[in-house]
Amino acid sequence: MHIPKDIIQTLKHTTSVVCPYCNKIADLKTGKDIYPHRTDLYNKYFYECPKCKARCGCHGSTKKPLGTLASPKLRKIRQQAHEVFDKLWNTYKPKYTRSEAYEALTKHLNLTKEETHIAQFDYYQCEKTIIWSEHEQQ
Ligand SMILES: [Zn+2]
Repeated sequence: MHIPKDIIQTLKHTTSVVCPYCNKIADLKTGKDIYPHRTDLYNKYFYECPKCKARCGCHGSTKKPLGTLASPKLRKIRQQAHEVFDKLWNTYKPKYTRSEAYEALTKHLNLTKEETHIAQFDYYQCEKTIIWSEHEQQ
């Protein structure tokens, strides 16, 4: 049987994304499925676990996952960490500039600049970010 070359290429690059919480294979979805009110995300891809709804986005308009799937609980604490951290630089009288705030957080968490993205933090890193940011505001 002859299999066209482009089909082989597609098969080679199709990897399934597995949910780190329940080991189910995540469904590939589009922004339209997940964020129907965000037309700007319609051509983006997302992976979502059919069981626990853990989710992640993809690089650009590709189907390459950005990190690992995040549970609803992790997504929520990332959002909280962002809110409290952003108050350090994004207020009327900020304590830091945006880059200073990121630099200080990088140092506090002992990460590299490339690793300091709240969207990629785990639960523990988010907790540390929240505690540190609240302390810094005093
Ligand atoms: Zn799951």
